[in-house]
Amino acid sequence: MTKPAHTTPPPDAAARRRAPPVLTYSVEQLPSFDAAFYNLARAELSKVAELMVPPRDAEAFEVPAGHFFRIVSVEGPQVGDLNLWNAHDLTERFYSGKTRALHATHLSTGDRLWSTFPRLRPMATITHDTLDWYGWDEDGAGVHDVIGTRCDPYTNLLLKGTEYHHCCHSNLTRALAAERNLPLEEAEVHVHDVMNVFMCTGYTRDTHQYFMKASPVRPGDFIEFFAEIDLLVALSACPGGDCGASHSDDTVKCYPLKVEIHRPRESAMAGWQSPPPNKYSRSHGIGEAVTATKSADR
Ligand SMILES: [Zn+2]
Repeated sequence: MTKPAHTTPPPDAAARRRAPPVLTYSVEQLPSFDAAFYNLARAELSKVAELMVPPRDAEAFEVPAGHFFRIVSVEGPQVGDLNLWNAHDLTERFYSGKTRALHATHLSTGDRLWSTFPRLRPMATITHDTLDWYGWDEDGAGVHDVIGTRCDPYTNLLLKGTEYHHCCHSNLTRALAAERNLPLEEAEVHVHDVMNVFMCTGYTRDTHQYFMKASPVRPGDFIEFFAEIDLLVALSACPGGDCGASHSDDTVKCYPLKVEIHRPRESAMAGWQSPPPNKYSRSHGIGEAVTATKSADR
């Protein structure tokens, strides 16, 4: 619902609204997507592991830096909620908000999945996406969003007054707790906003509200990521299934998701290194940096 305005517009309201949009970030200044490198690396892959994520549940798994992992649609249309952590430090995790601001509301080949401050570096790069044909539909929707969060039992309780235990948030929590042998409450605080793999979403044109529609994914479709650092990954097969009707309940048909981990041939990786953490001094204006600014002012 569009909210009624209570304030009289200024006389130059129309001119103010005509200010040209300026892209917030100059993404071309980021390290560019080196298609030749990734294409060479993925030209000859050896599958080193495979696992199935059961419907309405999640699995956690490690992917070593320099390996690829694929999320594959099997049996039927299914959305996956993806979390990434640095395998050696769970405080470095996927930062969906900054990834969205740097790239777009929906991700595809060439986009990076960035980590939280203070590291802010690519954790993974998308190297193939069989749904890249979808683009933007007439409702303004796209596939693989970083605008949703993850379905969770708290919001569900607020909206429906009932408890449901197989939301993606809970699935990811259980999977992380099991993988790292953590108590549930300790694991839960590491679960974060996701990349919604295969999910088709957008904002309504009139009210800019988050909407979902049936995922166009078909069995055999996959999205492929290159692990830029050693990753701990958790993937939930959302209880919403294709997310064309509902979520946070047991009403819709759900399917498993397959995960494959692939190793490139060694020669293709010669000289490659994980991206270093961001080099900002972290002084935040206190100490040396402030002194330097003040003396420069004199
Ligand atoms: Zn979900």
